[in-house]
Amino acid sequence: PEPQTEPDPTKKTLVILGTGWGSVSLLKKLDTENYNVIVISPRNYFLFTPLLPSCTTGTIEHRSIMEPIRTILRQKRASVKYYEAEASSIDPDRKVVKIFDNSDIRGATAETEVPYDMLVIGVGAENATFGIPGVRENSCFLKEIGDAQLIRKKIMDCVETAAFKDQSPEEIDRLLHMVVVGGGPTGVEFAGELQDFFDEDIRKLIPDISDRFRVTLIEALPNVLPSFSKQLIEYTESTFKEEKIDIMTKTMVKKVTEQTVEAEAIGPDGKKQKIVLPYGLLVWATGNAVRPVVKDLMARIPAQKDSRRGLAVNEYLVVQGTRDIWAVGDCAVAGYAPTAQVAGQEGNFLARLFNNMAKTETLEENIRELSSSLNLKPGNAAEISRAIEDQERQLRRIKDIKPFHYSHQGSLAYIGSDKAVADVSWFNGNFATGGNLTYLFWRSAYLSMCFSTRNRLLVCNDWVKSKLFGRDVSRE
Ligand code: FAD
Ligand code: NAD
Repeated sequence: PEPQTEPDPTKKTLVILGTGWGSVSLLKKLDTENYNVIVISPRNYFLFTPLLPSCTTGTIEHRSIMEPIRTILRQKRASVKYYEAEASSIDPDRKVVKIFDNSDIRGATAETEVPYDMLVIGVGAENATFGIPGVRENSCFLKEIGDAQLIRKKIMDCVETAAFKDQSPEEIDRLLHMVVVGGGPTGVEFAGELQDFFDEDIRKLIPDISDRFRVTLIEALPNVLPSFSKQLIEYTESTFKEEKIDIMTKTMVKKVTEQTVEAEAIGPDGKKQKIVLPYGLLVWATGNAVRPVVKDLMARIPAQKDSRRGLAVNEYLVVQGTRDIWAVGDCAVAGYAPTAQVAGQEGNFLARLFNNMAKTETLEENIRELSSSLNLKPGNAAEISRAIEDQERQLRRIKDIKPFHYSHQGSLAYIGSDKAVADVSWFNGNFATGGNLTYLFWRSAYLSMCFSTRNRLLVCNDWVKSKLFGRDVSRE
């Protein structure tokens, strides 16, 4: 049967903000028949972020890692409303979310309010720039599909401009210098993909400039991939050396201009040194910052005044100092790293919690009705009492919901030239591995993590296509 489309006044309204890892994991497992569910997000698709670095060079085409939210919602038993909009503020006292349509085409109504009984905030995070001058104006980020498309276009623009007639050697060097700031997994994976693209495709197609291409990765800390084990950090650094990627550690970028990056490096003697690097493409990957809508809500809740990195939540992911508001993923501070793995598990947990809450309410209602019928039908007292006991037993079983517990499956990162690094949890231990076999493991793990069969097929197809025919270097 077609799902019911109008809200049911007897059910609570559950509003979910965002269509990322946290919110979509929740939606996938949520029994939508229990609530009037409304999803609000400016992005009408789910994005499989682990493969986003591969889209910057065309190893994978961007649409292969997008899954329309409408397709996901169509598979739910009860209909879910979706509004393509951004939440601009949340009023926890009036229990409303203010939303606005920030897309190119807007109707006469582009701003309105959505009331909620229960609210889940899964809006993720924005790019951190630490207020460093020139970053927003001159660099590319790597968080959304549009970012990957822009990088892909700019790489080819730099290459074609470097190959322009009578270009001076200094200008060729600048244009072909690709600088990545931030040695976390995003920066490392992107640098690896970039070097692959150059070695496997551009070098063959435009051999006359091939000696001049350089990738530099800048990291403020003493090493890259700080969250990985020491052995894998060393393996990554030595692989990058072989791939001819320059790593500059203990180097903090302080300023960015249209053509240069200015940084302060701490030398082996402990002395600070100013460095100026001319660049053609600059990719900024220095982690997460809190979104304005989350900052605004935090300012309204006294219990959040000491929280800096996002909404502090309790062990059931309830936003501290609120009722009926939960937070998942990168916008929540639950004591875990801001990863897809954590966001996904948090979303699954909330789905279980909400499914249980709805069942609890139904059972409690049944018990109330049975208890009142005890007085009306004294002849059936024994039978009714047995039914009450049965409902109470069921209630005790499901009411005992354990708090959220994150189970770490391991960390994986691609480092270029068909090699990956993995810190994998194995039974109660941990083991670290790197190399070509790990790359196969990386590929199969990510393939199995893809949300739909359609995406799996598309990603496989892209891998085969780029291996057989090379990446497409046309600049769109
Ligand atoms: P997101 O997935 O970022 O989703 C946020 C959603 O909220 C989006 O739909 C957005 O459009 C929407 N939104 C934004 N603002 C608003 C608003 N005002 N109102 C309503 N909706 C809004 N993690 C791993 O574990 N493994 C990996 O391999 C991995 N690779 C990564 C590679 C890259 C390049 C990047 C950038 C991240 C990677 N991560 C990885 C981290 C992972 O992507 C994040 O931790 C994860 O996306 C967080 O999920 P989320 O649901 O909190 O936010
Ligand atoms: P990150 O926070 O992990 O790393 C950012 C790095 O930038 C830090 O090492 C920091 O020291 C450095 N930095 C900050 N300011 C700097 C400056 N001015 N100059 C030079 N360096 C500076 O950020 P990320 O890599 O974007 O990752 C964000 C989250 O997403 C993390 O939790 C990460 O684990 C997750 N992620 C995971 C994967 C994966 O598992 N393969 C891939 C991408 C992202």
